[in-house]
Amino acid sequence: MNAPDLSVVLPVFNEAPGLGELRERLERTLAGTGRSWEVVFVDDGSRDGSFEAMTAFARDDRRFRALRLSRNFGHQMALTAGVDAARGRCVAVMDADLQDPPELLPALLAKLDEGYEVVYAQRERRDGEGAFKRATAHVFYRLLRRLTSVDIPVDTGDFRVMGPRATAAFRRLRERHRFIRGLSAWVGFRQTGVPYARPPRRSGETKFPFRRMATFALDAITSFSHVPLQLGTWLGFGVSLFAFLYILVVVALKVLGINERGWTTLMGWMLLLGGVQLMLIGVLGEYLGRIYDEVKGRPLYLVADEVGGEPEETAPAAEPSPGPLS
Ligand code: UDP
Ligand code: MG
Repeated sequence: MNAPDLSVVLPVFNEAPGLGELRERLERTLAGTGRSWEVVFVDDGSRDGSFEAMTAFARDDRRFRALRLSRNFGHQMALTAGVDAARGRCVAVMDADLQDPPELLPALLAKLDEGYEVVYAQRERRDGEGAFKRATAHVFYRLLRRLTSVDIPVDTGDFRVMGPRATAAFRRLRERHRFIRGLSAWVGFRQTGVPYARPPRRSGETKFPFRRMATFALDAITSFSHVPLQLGTWLGFGVSLFAFLYILVVVALKVLGINERGWTTLMGWMLLLGGVQLMLIGVLGEYLGRIYDEVKGRPLYLVADEVGGEPEETAPAAEPSPGPLS
């Protein structure tokens, strides 16, 4: 099969009820673009029949492909698996819960045609998401922007299209703690955004409870910033300077014979400094744990099954596997 113009990659985790509508809307929109396309569904360990649904799509239309990971690896890994498997010249990535409306694809693709290499969808409004999620997201994206030197656009999710060069570059980024919207900004080239109003989820519920969001936010910050590590240096300098001056004061008071400072002050400072030190050790731990994960070098994900997609025309002959003694 010749490479299609566009691959649409969708990570799926227990989204069975919405898949029919998703397929319909994708087909309709993609038909209107006049490009050849494939859709790559990546089942991230669903237990609700999502894989069976996407397998059925793949059976009756060869442009649909279904990949099943061996377990739940998380949204960012599922996306990565899909981008790795995509055969299109350009790649679109979007959520499968219809919060990323397929109807926006033509607008994104139009920008690609203008010569942009990455076109992301930028959320102007977020309907149907709680005030808490909106507020934390708002603060997070702006904090991240201050902490990093990579120009990560605010209020964007992973919904985006990438041209051939950005896709090739993206595939070379194999880090484990993946913050894909950051990685996709990191590759550079010409990038731009298209605003859209993010609709609420069609069915099911978010797979990102607060804890998972917090981990994701930490991954983002540690992946793109050393500022938390440098916190210790600045605090250390600050406290040392203060301590030096304070000692002068204490000595002066002693000489003047008015130093009845008590236990309370001592206790206060001790606890405060103890807390700060523990916190900074925690910061070290966050980075150290991630370094450990990278060093282990495990594969990012494992594919269990793959259905659909015509076999590639010139599949390279399988390399003879080396014997156990070589
Ligand atoms: N998802 C996934 N693996 C997971 C969690 C989520 O593949 O472990 C998929 C999910 O099916 C959806 C997309 O990632 O297509 C975004 O997830 P969700 O809608 O729950 O995130 P939110 O929009 O609430 O941030
Ligand atoms: Mg969603």
